[in-house]
Amino acid sequence: MANKINFQKELDKLLEQNQCEGRIPSLFLHSCCAPCSSYVIEYLSDYFQITVFYYNPNIYPDEEYLHRVKEQQHLICQIPQKYPVSFLEGDFDKERFYDMAKGLEKIPEGGERCFQCYRLRLEKTAQLAKEHGFDYFCTTLSISPLKNAQKLNEIGEELADTYGIPWLPSDFKKKNGYKRSVELSALYGLYRQDYCGCVFSKKERERQIASELI
Ligand code: SF4
Repeated sequence: MANKINFQKELDKLLEQNQCEGRIPSLFLHSCCAPCSSYVIEYLSDYFQITVFYYNPNIYPDEEYLHRVKEQQHLICQIPQKYPVSFLEGDFDKERFYDMAKGLEKIPEGGERCFQCYRLRLEKTAQLAKEHGFDYFCTTLSISPLKNAQKLNEIGEELADTYGIPWLPSDFKKKNGYKRSVELSALYGLYRQDYCGCVFSKKERERQIASELI
């Protein structure tokens, strides 16, 4: 089996290089939700001009989607930032998610459906990052202990080649990123959902809660 790459170390090297060159590059940062983005914004806004891209057609139901968008905007207004962070909301094109998930509905969280879900969101991020002339693209997703950072980086690098836009290597759960996101969520009073986002993960969570009650 191939050795796991430490993407945090790769990010450290890249940040150091940009600092030596006195560069403040632009970053198109896909965000899955406010809590996960809190640490990433705190950390990276010292090094990049960030645009947070909220593109999550996987979220179910609609009210949950709207709630998460509002929390994202609330956080960006509140959190201190060395270089100002802007916000862009993508289309809530749910059909694309359901088309992608066809036949994968019963796969538990963390499997192939999730890999396709990463790809769906990252591909749109890469396309727009290229179109708008950003220096890098990235996602907050790797902060979650339930998300596969190796897979995210593999997809990110593949899309970087396809679209001709550099991917920012990262694994935000390193350096206690997840723990810090929990602290920041408390500090800014953020809503922390208890399921990943799609209808399948919601049902999986409900079954888990029901089984804990037995
Ligand atoms: S569990 Fe999360 S990552 Fe997996 S398909 Fe659902 S929303 Fe996407």
